[in-house]
Amino acid sequence: KDFRNNVKPNWCPGCGDFSVQAAIQRAAANVGLEPEQMAVVSGIGCSGRISGYIHSYGLHGIHGRALPIAQGLKMANKDLTVIASGGDGDGFAIGMGHTIHAIRRNIDVTYIVMDNQIYGLTKGQTSPRSAAGFKTKSTPEGAIEHALAPMEMALSAGATFVAQSFSSDLKELTSLIEQGINHKGFSIINVFSPCVTYNKVNTYDWFKENLTKLSDVEGYDFTNREKAMSTLMKHDGLVTGLIYQNQEQPSYQELVSGYSDDALSNANLQLEEEQFNKLLKEFM
Ligand code: SF4
Repeated sequence: KDFRNNVKPNWCPGCGDFSVQAAIQRAAANVGLEPEQMAVVSGIGCSGRISGYIHSYGLHGIHGRALPIAQGLKMANKDLTVIASGGDGDGFAIGMGHTIHAIRRNIDVTYIVMDNQIYGLTKGQTSPRSAAGFKTKSTPEGAIEHALAPMEMALSAGATFVAQSFSSDLKELTSLIEQGINHKGFSIINVFSPCVTYNKVNTYDWFKENLTKLSDVEGYDFTNREKAMSTLMKHDGLVTGLIYQNQEQPSYQELVSGYSDDALSNANLQLEEEQFNKLLKEFM
């Protein structure tokens, strides 16, 4: 079970995305998958390249559209473990509509966001996760808007698995991805993944100083949604660990009749001419 391939990542040295790649590869091996049992679908951005660096099925899609593709894959092949991935611009700006609806749909896909609070691929503009006052080429006098709060958003939208980690903490990140893969429903894992080239504020040292591990919060209970929301608000979203999990809610697939009988990808979809014409007539 080796999820490494021969493609050399062209991320900048020190980019947090290297650790996310390693964590996905380790988690997939740890849960006992074979490369042909997994697909990694990504959007556009530096982080979007990740699907090309993992030995599995992969698809580097279009900006903000990793989730529609990932959900379609899962519905067509229930036996496939599907990972969707991208950056904070990809998932929380152009792709935000898909993110919210995938969350409330609770389809069995693991979504990993590499959150670097900036647009890296286009050379450093303010993203939906940049803090107010953040100065970039697109906001030379500082961002006016406040940063989006992705974990609070996920909780509000009814997510059944919400987690956050830091790319420096490979052990925690790997464990959370394993839990996300094993979760029966949609899992969202936001990863603070520093952009060492363009973001000189949210650096590795900054995160080390500002992050709180939920395992250090006395009495924290990841099954308590209200507590999860108040803890996030208290720490301004800067927590890592399993924030919330609800294992009671059925996944989308469990509610779709006939879904569990067989994978659609195994079905013989070839139609005889007569059947085809009959279908055509019905839809005309
Ligand atoms: Fe990573 Fe930033 Fe370089 Fe992109 S520009 S590869 S996000 S360090």
